Amino acid sequence: AQERYVSIRDKAAVTLDGHKIDLVMNAGLMADLPSLESSGAEGVGLFRTELQFLVRNQMPRRSELVALYKRVLDAAQGKRVVFRTLDIGSDKVLPYMKPNDEPNPALGWRAIRVGLDKPGIMRMQLQALMRAAEGRPLTVMFPFVAQAEEFRAARNEVTKTLERERILGHALPESLEIGAMLETPSLAFAPQKFFDEVGFISIGGNDLKQFFFAADRENERVRKRYDSLNVSFLTFIEQIVERCSVSKTPLSFCGEDAGRPIEAVCLAAMGMRTLSMRPASIGPVKSLLMRVNLQDLRQVIFESRHRGDQSVRGAVMRYLRET
Ligand code: PEP
Ligand code: MG
Repeated sequence: AQERYVSIRDKAAVTLDGHKIDLVMNAGLMADLPSLESSGAEGVGLFRTELQFLVRNQMPRRSELVALYKRVLDAAQGKRVVFRTLDIGSDKVLPYMKPNDEPNPALGWRAIRVGLDKPGIMRMQLQALMRAAEGRPLTVMFPFVAQAEEFRAARNEVTKTLERERILGHALPESLEIGAMLETPSLAFAPQKFFDEVGFISIGGNDLKQFFFAADRENERVRKRYDSLNVSFLTFIEQIVERCSVSKTPLSFCGEDAGRPIEAVCLAAMGMRTLSMRPASIGPVKSLLMRVNLQDLRQVIFESRHRGDQSVRGAVMRYLRET
């Protein structure tokens, strides 16, 4: 099936009305790296660092992490890689960490909450990333940021780690970008100042949708109940796009919906210009993007919303069939 997309692999994803959408990939294991070349991805928009921790039976040493991250950056050959710091807890439990007995793990002690409360692991990881980057640009993203203060505290850890590395005489990254994942609705309503100071934002649609609809992403029974093209959700996405555009904050979307062609073109129509997805989705998403006029599609979405549809899917499918 992938062969169908080989002819467009090296083409840019430009819509009929001239909008260029950056298509980047999600990764996490060394086995994903060859896809960077074969999929035509322009970079790695989400590197899930916890996967390396999850496939072991003991905590990896810093030197191992340095070697791993070096291999990732080498394979990327200068393409941007967004390293997400450890996103553990909830559905991702480290086999060598004492499990928490929490009644609602998805709402529990996870991701940046663990990172800030037990900064040892986070510091080691940041150090490893800096050492792996040495002289190259480094991009770090914090998962599950619910309020601006958490982002500031995490960024402060980065600054302190950088200073320590400098004192130790290690080569530093050439540049450093620090961003946040927007995957809890609260962050979308943070003071505008947060949007001014954050380096970039990536919407974690899987978690954002779960919390927006209060529907467990792990629970088959409720997961499919709420359409990603639900008008309320798209309106929420539209507001995030607007807030980011006011402060010119780079914005991307890295949940599974970015890799579904219909959802992807709708996200682009709502103003999203960078989509991060599994490598196999890049061909199909690009193929559809190249066949749509975003302005027209946006009009279709707005009219559907205006009519009072619950989801714009029907209207969008009709439009896509007719064009
Ligand atoms: C998300 O929540 O959309 C996301 C990209 O992160 P993960 O699926 O790893 O939670
Ligand atoms: Mg998430």
